[in-house]
Amino acid sequence: MNTKANKMSWDLDTIFPGGSESAEFESFRMTIDADLEAAEESLAGLPRKTDDTAFDKWAEFCATMQNLGERIIHGEEFSYCLTAQDIDDEKAAALLDEMISRAGSWQSIMTGVDEFILGLDDDSWAILVGHEKLSGTMFYWNERRFNARHRMEAKLEKLAAGLSGDGYHAWARLYEHIAGGLKVEFISDGKSETLSMGQLHNKFSSADRDIREQAFEKLESAWGSVESQAAMILNSQAGFRLKLYKARGWESPLLEPLMIGRLKQETLDAMWSAVARAGKSMADYISAKKKLLGIENFRWYDQRAPISKIDKSVSYEEACDFVIKYLTEFSPDMGKLARTAIDDRWIEAEDRSGKAAGGFQAELFVSKQSRIFMTFSGDYDQMMTLAHELGHAYHSYVMRDLDYFSQLYSMNLAETASTFNELLVTDAAMADTDDPSEKLWLLDRKIEEAFGHFCDLRSRFLFDKAFYEERKKGILSRKRLCELMVESQKIAFGDILSEDGYHPLFWAAKSHFFDTESPFYNFPYVFGYLFSGGIYEQARREGSSFADKYKALLLDTGSMTCEEVAKKHLGVDLTTEQFWNQSVDRVIADIDQFVKLSQQV
Ligand SMILES: [Zn+2]
Repeated sequence: MNTKANKMSWDLDTIFPGGSESAEFESFRMTIDADLEAAEESLAGLPRKTDDTAFDKWAEFCATMQNLGERIIHGEEFSYCLTAQDIDDEKAAALLDEMISRAGSWQSIMTGVDEFILGLDDDSWAILVGHEKLSGTMFYWNERRFNARHRMEAKLEKLAAGLSGDGYHAWARLYEHIAGGLKVEFISDGKSETLSMGQLHNKFSSADRDIREQAFEKLESAWGSVESQAAMILNSQAGFRLKLYKARGWESPLLEPLMIGRLKQETLDAMWSAVARAGKSMADYISAKKKLLGIENFRWYDQRAPISKIDKSVSYEEACDFVIKYLTEFSPDMGKLARTAIDDRWIEAEDRSGKAAGGFQAELFVSKQSRIFMTFSGDYDQMMTLAHELGHAYHSYVMRDLDYFSQLYSMNLAETASTFNELLVTDAAMADTDDPSEKLWLLDRKIEEAFGHFCDLRSRFLFDKAFYEERKKGILSRKRLCELMVESQKIAFGDILSEDGYHPLFWAAKSHFFDTESPFYNFPYVFGYLFSGGIYEQARREGSSFADKYKALLLDTGSMTCEEVAKKHLGVDLTTEQFWNQSVDRVIADIDQFVKLSQQV
């Protein structure tokens, strides 16, 4: 291996030497198995009383479970890295399955803890959670108790969770199976090629409108062929959830996603009102973009159309240097961590076959290190991916010495540091060029992101909301699902999309609607984007003196609600529109600049 290839591939041996055949990793797994067995036994023998000795034993047990949970996730993340670096490594895939099943056993033991917690009155609870072994993770335990109290009795929850494997979640697997089997014949340059839905998706960023139009037609006809199955799955999943919610006494289908997101309904409402304010500016952006693209009717498939072909290729070294330079300018600490990640080979960036697609950051809790996975072939977008994933790595680095349960942040806050880095590096790249076409291209990349959040993601939220309301009354037909989808798009896009430009079958084509782990998996994206944008605005106003505040904010993301984090570190109230408006204004300012520049080039 030459030095360059070496530098671009990651070092997993410092975690466990020897890849999927690692003897150290094997003994690590065996210890976990023995500890899981021991935990199950000691749970059965724990006292059910509420005196000091009993609480000592319970606190000790909870701390042991925390440590065990941390090691299981560490092993799971490591296995995941192994599968990503070599998709043909069957041993690695089996190891990952094993680790996931260990996580399941851990969860099941934890329901025993929930049962005990539920039997405690508030005074006893305060004593237990104030125990020196638990007080550092009080937020986690209070949240756990709150969640347990708002569910059915533990026995029934266990039954429902057991049934959902072959019911609720099985519908999601069936959907994935159907989506995975869909293929289309795509014609380009007179040649026909067979494409999966994932490959077809890439065609929507083609500069050639005929390609985009063909991709859309093929997408609609592929999903049209399995529309009735998709409708059956969506109706069944929603029916399952609504019945479960009823049994738990939950009235709104939004309660679960809000609990998962550690978010208040008022916050969500304030955020969406601010987003709606950007409607006129979004229309201005698309008008300017239509002129640049030379089209009259803006359709669904034009959303990711590039305005021009700018060759912004960049080498891995250049990208690393650029990112480090601007991170350091804001915070030397952030720059230093990025340098460590690159020099100590935490990053797998090599462009070679046999790797998984996409990018991610894995947190190896026990080692207090991150690993970043991506493929770097020289595109500007990949420099952004690098900045993005280094943001995640910094977030983990800041939290590395906290107790494991205090490091677990919600999805809403998960993209805070990554989006922040992207904004920082994009603005640096814009300041770095005098070429108006290049500036315009960079601005478009930036605004396109906001456009996706404000229009497409908002339409998904509106659809989910309307769909669940109607589903309470009965099954929705395919036709009705399409109608609801178009109605939601009409509200979210305003008159941006032309009358022939909607995507009625989007409810079937978008896998997020079928995700059983995270219902309403649309608003967390928008929240994360705008929250980070608001923080970025504050950073710009306050300069590098903000760096310490930012670090303190990240440190608390695993032990507070979103509202509490914002109040404590930014001094803002997320339940009112003010903060969100400021974040939206930043996007509007970019659009004004885009419209102006577009008239100059
Ligand atoms: Zn991310």
